[in-house]
Amino acid sequence: MSPYLDVYLAKIRLNTARVVERCRRMGLKVLGVTKGFGAMPEIVSAMAGGGIDGLADARVENIIELRNRGCKLPITLLRIPRLSNVGNVVRYADASVNSELEVIAALAEEALSAGKTHQVILMVDVGDLREGVLIEHALGTAGRISKLRGVNLAGIGTNVGCFGGVLPEVENLSRLVSVGRSIENRLGVSLEIISGGGTSSLLLVEKGQIPPGINQLRVGEGILLGTDTTHNRTIPWLYQDAFRLRAEIIELKEKPSVPAGTIGRDAFGNLPQFEDLGPRKRAILALGRQDVNIEGIKPVDRRMTVLGASSDHLIVDITDTDEDLGIGDNIAFSLSYSGLLSASGSKYITKVFREDER
Ligand SMILES: *Cc1c(COP(=O)(O)O)cnc(C)c1O
Repeated sequence: MSPYLDVYLAKIRLNTARVVERCRRMGLKVLGVTKGFGAMPEIVSAMAGGGIDGLADARVENIIELRNRGCKLPITLLRIPRLSNVGNVVRYADASVNSELEVIAALAEEALSAGKTHQVILMVDVGDLREGVLIEHALGTAGRISKLRGVNLAGIGTNVGCFGGVLPEVENLSRLVSVGRSIENRLGVSLEIISGGGTSSLLLVEKGQIPPGINQLRVGEGILLGTDTTHNRTIPWLYQDAFRLRAEIIELKEKPSVPAGTIGRDAFGNLPQFEDLGPRKRAILALGRQDVNIEGIKPVDRRMTVLGASSDHLIVDITDTDEDLGIGDNIAFSLSYSGLLSASGSKYITKVFREDER
């Protein structure tokens, strides 16, 4: 059997409902971020079943697919649009995050000729140094956007924890809110949305510390994996096992832990190093770097260790487990966000959607 990704839809639905409920109590709407799983429709339906307020994806291609499948939820494009693709953005997304006036002007023109109004979220950089205008430029840019016909300045947002690893804190999110208030006061507009980050902002929600004024989060990782990588934690009130990758054992033998012969480079040009632990029970799985980002998966049984992988083989030390494993059996792996991204997009990994609990 080919390696497969088990998706437990009920857990995704429950995680969604829990995130939505906690956020609602703090006055926040939640966009379910679908880019981590390539917007697979079964998972989108589970998010919808959990009561998500809207969807968001970084890829226009995923948004087109969602629309073509009849998705009725509002969809926000999460990566600032390509100038070359504004037509599709206006056509398929209700809103997009933006930081470049040139692109926003093109969106406006496109929307005008389509007889639509496109919703613009102006991204403001509060320190993480990925997308967004600097705080001192936010008011000026907002002023220019508000003069354009075809687009509506629906709100502002920020991104944290992605490039610079900057944590969402009361301080930087409050700064976003005050930028929003000064835009409203100086331009005489009212902003519908102040979007305060993603999964990493859930910790502030938990502590009841989300600054008043923030009214939206865009959550992917938390709902899908129940983890918060930026804070290096699992989220105790969410399931961590909505996804399991399973791959089959094709060789199972006891072998020495140190290779014999003169050591050159491995298949990827690295110099491998080994510790002599004596003879070890090693399983080779039909899974490799061509299938999934190996650094993004971990055996569920923590007594097993991944020793390494080449393009098509994964070697796991199973000496210390008491599971009774043989040729043809599967080993289960949990996934990090990068593991999930790569497994979702991999044509070699079969996706199996399960409605029931295990
Ligand atoms: C990916 C992304 C998110 C979701 O982040 P998670 O950590 O998965 O919750 C939110 N906002 C933007 C702009 C993103 O690109």
